[in-house]
Amino acid sequence: MRSSAFFSRRFRYQADAVIKPSIITLLGVAFVIVAMPVCAEENPAPPAAAAQSPSAIDPAAATKAWLATVPRDKREKSDAYFEGRYWLLLWNFLLTAAICILLLESRISARVRDFAERATKVRSLQIACYAIPYFLIVATLTFPLNLYENFLREHQYGLATQSFLPWFREQLIGFGLTIIGGTILLIALYAVFRKAPRTWWAWATAVMVIFLLGVVFIAPVFIEPLFNTYKPLMKPEIRDPILAMARANQIPTRQVFEVDASRQTTRVSANVAGFLGTTRIALNDNLLKQCTLPEIRAVMAHEMGHYVLNHGAKLLTYSGIFLAIGFALTRILFDAAMRRWGVRWGVRSIADPAGLPLLALIFGTLLFLATPFLNTIVRVTEREADAFGINTSREPDGMAKVALKLGSKNLSFLITPADAHASAWQWIGKSQTCQLANRRH
Ligand SMILES: [Zn+2]
Repeated sequence: MRSSAFFSRRFRYQADAVIKPSIITLLGVAFVIVAMPVCAEENPAPPAAAAQSPSAIDPAAATKAWLATVPRDKREKSDAYFEGRYWLLLWNFLLTAAICILLLESRISARVRDFAERATKVRSLQIACYAIPYFLIVATLTFPLNLYENFLREHQYGLATQSFLPWFREQLIGFGLTIIGGTILLIALYAVFRKAPRTWWAWATAVMVIFLLGVVFIAPVFIEPLFNTYKPLMKPEIRDPILAMARANQIPTRQVFEVDASRQTTRVSANVAGFLGTTRIALNDNLLKQCTLPEIRAVMAHEMGHYVLNHGAKLLTYSGIFLAIGFALTRILFDAAMRRWGVRWGVRSIADPAGLPLLALIFGTLLFLATPFLNTIVRVTEREADAFGINTSREPDGMAKVALKLGSKNLSFLITPADAHASAWQWIGKSQTCQLANRRH
């Protein structure tokens, strides 16, 4: 039950680690395709929901019975992993804020800008000459935290399957993509800053939304294959029930793909993504290995819910609104900071790339403060997808089991039950929040 983000785990595209909290990090929040990480070990069978008469079920008691099947140590491990994520959000924010201030106060940012201006007279190329050293500096300074969060900690909790070198190689690929995508985006944004010094916030919102759309379009074709192999799922006993649900919901696809996620992780996940003829249903090999057919159906129906309910487009729209408000506030705060510290930092105006760390600092702070709000939006979509998933799959037990597996293996625990359907429970995940912040949950 997750929404994954472009520069986030799904593509193992470590932009957020690299330029957080710069503008591009927003992509992490803004851009959502769908995927549901789940799964793992066998739980003892709790009461079968479907077997009972709907009126006889007390959802709260039934939920307790399910939760009681999870051993205490697993539950504690899951909670510890999850709560650690909240702290990591804070550490990441503080570290990046410190880096931004360092770049401004030391005038390193102004010096990199001077270097860019000496290197070329072409404005767009000056932005590129600034952006590349900027990304390198930030990636280097954030590497220790990145290493802890995405490699050491993942191994500590038994979620990672990669040794250091393959992991590091993927980090480098992600960084390469960050440089390419980030530089293109910054060139476009600074063109807007130069041409519309007062109304740039509105135009920048449009640039960001177009950029996000472009990314969602090319990601499955050009980015995902850099990290994983997608091949058609050949097992008809799994594939056909999934395609039957897809047909019933008018999802325009005839194939189900299997992705070799076990290369990187033990987590289970799936997604239905794409548009304009690129629609694709994919599930990972961990899901296939570790879950039963009713569980797989429940997961896939949840993912189809994201697609059918247009969650991608809705989240993109919300992101657009959030971006507009964020940029408008950023403009006010940026101008105020410039009046006070502009000379000291050697930053001339919004159109001066030397001000990028200030822009990143302001925008990153707003983004950080908006975290609860953004998480709420994602949770709402997850609840909708859950309800859709139960309705479509008619697998309340599969749904409940997979929710518990999600807790014990993916370490994103679900604890808040509600009466979703006559014979089922709706599980509201804490997990969704982590989907935003993390790569490959
Ligand atoms: Zn989901």
